[in-house]
Amino acid sequence: MARERIISPDEQSVDNEATVRETSTHSIRPTTLDQYLGQAELRERLSVALEAAKDRDDPMEHVLLYGPPGLGKTTLAHVIANELGTRAWVTSGPALTKGSDLVGTLTRMEPGDVLFIDEIHRLPASVEEYIYPAMEDYKIDFTLDSGMHARVVTYALQPFTLIGATTRAGLLTGALRSRFGIVHNIRFYETDELTSILKQAIPKLDMDTVDEQSLHCIASRSRGTPRIALRLLRRVRDFSQVRCDHRFDQSVVNEALKLEGIDDAGLDTLDRTYLETLSTVYEGGPAGVEAIAATMGEDAGTLQDVVEPYLLQAGYLSRTRQGRKITELGIKRLEQQIKG
Ligand code: ADP
Repeated sequence: MARERIISPDEQSVDNEATVRETSTHSIRPTTLDQYLGQAELRERLSVALEAAKDRDDPMEHVLLYGPPGLGKTTLAHVIANELGTRAWVTSGPALTKGSDLVGTLTRMEPGDVLFIDEIHRLPASVEEYIYPAMEDYKIDFTLDSGMHARVVTYALQPFTLIGATTRAGLLTGALRSRFGIVHNIRFYETDELTSILKQAIPKLDMDTVDEQSLHCIASRSRGTPRIALRLLRRVRDFSQVRCDHRFDQSVVNEALKLEGIDDAGLDTLDRTYLETLSTVYEGGPAGVEAIAATMGEDAGTLQDVVEPYLLQAGYLSRTRQGRKITELGIKRLEQQIKG
């Protein structure tokens, strides 16, 4: 049961109609590497790879990005395509059920285009095998007819760049992983980086300037995730417009976020319920994520992808061989909650 969550980094409006869609960049998304803030190390690696590819007139190396949702993986695919002056085609692992789902796209792509596959760890084995020759030699084999008349036709593709994104690098097969030239872990953003991302988004959202402290206040409660920061900014904007006569300051931010159930550490009800369940039902742990999920009536995958990464990074949770354990800091957090 994945209930909608204001703080969830998952995109709320995903176009599921087509298995692969050629996308125009969303207006709020950065379009150049310069506008892509934070992730300095990744940007550095990419700018070298981009320049080298442009110089040689080659496609850029295939890139694998892993990290929790909302950290800018899709955005980066658009940025790379834009920097290369090509197009980005976007799809996801679960949308591709058989190898032939990709034929139309792969054969329509022009030299240097970018194919972005989100949740690449959920690619069925048959599709995965299908894309190996596409990644390595820019060709695909498909079978025409069946039975005794079946014959395999090899089709040459235009050179392209595959960008794979996953929230679970561990679930990727070694064979697939080894075919990416650049593998990078996208990390959570620092509060200052998120503040800059919000500042950059303000004019795109047609908002008047907002003081730095208010933006910092939103950023510090966004779990290191740009998508959450931008979503909270929109919530605060609504609140300021409707309840505060367009006033936008730290007290308005605090009130608006309180209404959304977000505490001063940026945790929401789902995070707190997770910590409370672990602390009370499982006496602090160790407990398996499946058991915690069953007690909470949540999906274990959602907890693993969306809730746990930040709790681990913030130091409220630890993962041991025996299972999840709440840390001293996590216990303190819950105590503060009770006092507050
Ligand atoms: P993911 O694909 O990892 O789930 P997205 O690429 O959809 O995340 O990013 C979510 C939102 O956050 C987008 O609207 C994008 O504009 C913004 N965003 C993400 N990373 C950055 C960044 N480094 N700089 C500026 N905006 C960003």
